[in-house]
Amino acid sequence: MLSSEIIKRYQELKELLAKYSYSYYVLSESLVSDYEYDELFNELLAIEKTNPSLISADSPSQRVGALPRQVSSVKHSLPMLSLTNTYNFDELDDFNRRISENLLGEDYSYCSELKYDGVSISLLYRDGKFFRAVTRGDGISGEDVTNSIRTIQTLPLEVNLVEVLDKPLRNFEVRGEVYIKNADFLNLNEIRINRNEKPFANPRNLASGSLKLLDSKEVAERSLQLVCYYLYSEEVQLQTQFKNVELLKELGFPTSSATEYCHNIDEVKSFINKWEVGRNDLEYETDGIVVKLNDLHQQEKLGAIARSPRWAIAYKYKAETAETILTDISLQVGRTGVVTPVAELEPVFLAGSTISRATLHNLDFIEKIDLRIGDTVIIEKGGEVIPKITSVVLSKRKEGAPKYEFPKTCICELKSPLRRIAEEANYYCEHPNCPWQIRRLIEHFASRNAMDISGLGEKVVDKLVSLEYIKDIASIYELKNYRNQLVKIEGWGEKSVDNLLQAIENSKANPMHRLLFGLGIRFVGEKTAKILSKEFRNIDELKVATFDELIVIQEIGEKIATSLRAFFENQNAIELIEQLRQHGLNFVSEYEASPVVENEISGKTFVFTGELERMSRQEAANLVESLGGKEVKSVSQKTNFVVVGSKPGSKYDKAKQLNIKILDEDEFLKMIEANKIVD
Ligand code: NAD
Repeated sequence: MLSSEIIKRYQELKELLAKYSYSYYVLSESLVSDYEYDELFNELLAIEKTNPSLISADSPSQRVGALPRQVSSVKHSLPMLSLTNTYNFDELDDFNRRISENLLGEDYSYCSELKYDGVSISLLYRDGKFFRAVTRGDGISGEDVTNSIRTIQTLPLEVNLVEVLDKPLRNFEVRGEVYIKNADFLNLNEIRINRNEKPFANPRNLASGSLKLLDSKEVAERSLQLVCYYLYSEEVQLQTQFKNVELLKELGFPTSSATEYCHNIDEVKSFINKWEVGRNDLEYETDGIVVKLNDLHQQEKLGAIARSPRWAIAYKYKAETAETILTDISLQVGRTGVVTPVAELEPVFLAGSTISRATLHNLDFIEKIDLRIGDTVIIEKGGEVIPKITSVVLSKRKEGAPKYEFPKTCICELKSPLRRIAEEANYYCEHPNCPWQIRRLIEHFASRNAMDISGLGEKVVDKLVSLEYIKDIASIYELKNYRNQLVKIEGWGEKSVDNLLQAIENSKANPMHRLLFGLGIRFVGEKTAKILSKEFRNIDELKVATFDELIVIQEIGEKIATSLRAFFENQNAIELIEQLRQHGLNFVSEYEASPVVENEISGKTFVFTGELERMSRQEAANLVESLGGKEVKSVSQKTNFVVVGSKPGSKYDKAKQLNIKILDEDEFLKMIEANKIVD
């Protein structure tokens, strides 16, 4: 008998993993570290092992990656699978034992390779010429990214003539990894930060995001790299994985020089140990080793389980850790006044760089690990660039070290009291004139998705505020009065100053939602700003909207309505709005000026019932949400669409009863695709 607790946890895990996968594969953003993801995944596998009746087609254990973004995707001739992974030698021994048992005493050997931390790609060659590149997608079909891949300098557009047992190799598929070198990653992120764009968390996400860019000129700027490790052809008789890698090299493909033939599992372990240290000197990120049964016929004999082959395993290295001392906890103030504690550390070298600071999130986090100043701590650097503290070495704690108390006042010279809002983990500085808040607010106002004032990033804002040329948002528009002084600042020059001043002038014409988002009103993000600017014709109408008028708007809850009222009743905000008006900023909604053709999905509600074949319900709901629609759990008169998969439940009957528009999975995907262009 299955306990309801197990079922609940299982559902929870499925939903969490679907959410993380969608973000990781489709949006190229990691919400958690790979290690955390793998722990949850293993928990799910353990539940499935003891309760096989729970396994359904949408379980992450049965699928690879996530549905490709474009429905007009390309089907792979052979599925592109994932790899089973392990973080320890015991499981590696189990893998070896299973191979040995399955091969019934045959001799076998391995091919060990570096596991590049990038994005897998399939490359098709016809008559020796590069024909098409497709991402892994959900393993069955992926996205056509031929144009992006063409920008990779080392990709052979036509291969060298190679013969295998006297037969020419001209039609084949190659698989490999697209990645970005660490130095390029750091450079590209720096450019993004200067342009007020969100930096990528790690090289993998950057590589994945780059492949999806539509403009191949932009892709070329990303300096993508390629390494190939798989070859398949029906034309010739291929023998072993190790020989295939050599063949790839002969054909002209970039391959890894680290690949090694290993007679047995002990040699594989030596390879793993060697690269655990050696990988730190590489120019790119690797997250482990891939161990493959060498003989291709034996590989075929072993076959695959749902999402991974039986003949290979990924040995993943745990995130690297180091021990150091927490010398202090400093505070950082964000634009909404949120105060974030930051760990000041005795500098320590970890995974290629010296670490002296780490994020601490909030007081709850500090209390959870009972962190005290002077403690010896373990820090970890995983796939993320920003290191974090994972634990305290309690045995090394100095006797009598006092518990950490959150400061009562802000770090700004106004020393205003910090307040913790009920039910929130964060402390806030609520003084409207806090200079730290103002800097970050100006930076936010100028950021790409707000007023898009290129050149007004963190460093420039800090400089201009410290020189007192800017003191608040409105004074950005008076910066032109300081042109003579600005051009004299070292390293600035006439051209960059004029570009900045022009960008400031241009920003005045931005539509209402950008301005509204830029004002940094608590809980009013980009999406909410757009919703509001569809409901109100201009800032002045919104300014006088009552709480009751706000709350009836779909997706505007009490929290947002209260925050909006508080903002527009605040004297400073009232003055700011008037100053911006004087400077000639546009207050009018673009949705008012030129009504947008409503997309079929925005503002509509969707109910899902039954099992979808090509994605989980969570992924489907994410797609709806990305286009402004909403998933609801039950069918009512107000429901706009019911999407029906196989084995639908009672919601399907109810939808028919109420005469609600019913879509099958194909119709749903077509609808998503048809509406994608509209913002
Ligand atoms: P994976 O990255 O663990 O391993 C499979 C992939 O390794 C292949 O598809 C291929 O692209 C790559 N690879 C690199 N070098 C290779 C080589 N020499 N030979 C063969 N393959 C090689 O598996 P995955 O399916 O891509 O992703 C699953 C993993 O991704 C999870 O285990 C987790 O660590 C991570 N993940 C993280 C999140 C997150 O939110 N952090 C979300 C989803 C998945």
